[in-house]
Amino acid sequence: MPKLHELLCTFDTNPDSGPRKRKRSAFSLDGRKKVRKVRESGACVSCRLRKISCSENGICGHCNKAANNPQLAKQICLRNKLKDTYVGVKEIFGKLDERRAVLDPILQSLTGSSVPILLSVGPFGAGRAALPLNVMRCNASPVCRWKGLGKINGIFLTCDSVYDERYVVDPSTLPSVDEIDRFGRNILSISRGSHSGEITRLLDDFLLSYCSLGSSSPLRQFSDSTLKIAGLNNIVCYGYLHLRDGSFDLLNRPSTENAFDTSYISPTVHEQIRLLAAEGLERVEESVFSEIDAFNKLIGANKHARIVGGICLLRLLLLYRDRVFRDRIRLHLPTQKLRHRTRLEQWTFMYKRLSIAYGALCRDSNSPITTKWVAEEGPENHELKLQFQRLRSPYLDLCNEKLTQDHDDVFKSLVTRGKETTPKKP
Ligand SMILES: [Zn+2]
Ligand SMILES: [Zn+2]
Repeated sequence: MPKLHELLCTFDTNPDSGPRKRKRSAFSLDGRKKVRKVRESGACVSCRLRKISCSENGICGHCNKAANNPQLAKQICLRNKLKDTYVGVKEIFGKLDERRAVLDPILQSLTGSSVPILLSVGPFGAGRAALPLNVMRCNASPVCRWKGLGKINGIFLTCDSVYDERYVVDPSTLPSVDEIDRFGRNILSISRGSHSGEITRLLDDFLLSYCSLGSSSPLRQFSDSTLKIAGLNNIVCYGYLHLRDGSFDLLNRPSTENAFDTSYISPTVHEQIRLLAAEGLERVEESVFSEIDAFNKLIGANKHARIVGGICLLRLLLLYRDRVFRDRIRLHLPTQKLRHRTRLEQWTFMYKRLSIAYGALCRDSNSPITTKWVAEEGPENHELKLQFQRLRSPYLDLCNEKLTQDHDDVFKSLVTRGKETTPKKP
């Protein structure tokens, strides 16, 4: 085990001489060798984002210090790029071509007229999100298993099924990815929060406003992509939405006095929409995770960009945190399957990996959410400022009340060190 001072490497050849400045020309031969080696293996994620020097290999001094625990330091000090390691829709949902091939024969032989329906979520207090579709009956495979989704232990699960006529979205009227993206955002805007509390809903509110204001900028595009990932992810991943399939009403089934608050989904309609959402998700994931690798380029020294960039990273990491908590509940139910354990590991990796990126924007008690609001250049938008200030209390609630011993260790060690315990007045 190397000593701590051996892991720390500084490229300043004369650290005692006044203000620390890096002089490239003054590198010793050793210093130059070190830089070359670090460049070859790549600085760790934290050091790269913080623009500080990293060790040649192994667990670097910065991460050792931040984690204060060798096991945790090993999880934090990662040198791989996110774009090469992220777990995305392909891992979770499967290869899109293969899933399309399963659907194909069903879509070959449709019959009857094209009937309008509404695929919807809600109504919740704040409203309802709906996607208008046209459906037709299916000749090739006329009966399907309608899945009834109900809420058990706070998560949605298939808790009932009925066999009845199969409906299919009329292929000539399939919505575009953009329309499904809008549906996804509408669902976010009526959501009441998540396993992490009210904070997810408020982050979405902020980002929805931010994206609708001002001129296009790389930061606004990144915020927009963040919302797209959050919205499409819900649609792709089974069991996150209490979807109401309008084609179920076409069956004219007697309404049951079911104890569960159940709604039935046609597997074909759902799969057609999920495939389109997955297509959009695949593209946006690739661009967002590449941008996080070069996050300095996006936010630079701009304080406003640090806040908005931080809000995006927090939204993304909470998306994965919620998945972790859902699958943790799932694994405690009697019908657990091997894939739930794999999913839990995949979500956990992403939650931790994004926490490292977000952690690089936090300095002790100063985080992008608890810092003072800095507006974009141009006229100040007061509503946006208020939306930002609303984040503070549920964020502190998450940091102080909701973090667990076994799933939040990385977030805790990088984000909440020295965090204030009582919210200051804004
Ligand atoms: Zn490092
Ligand atoms: Zn490190």
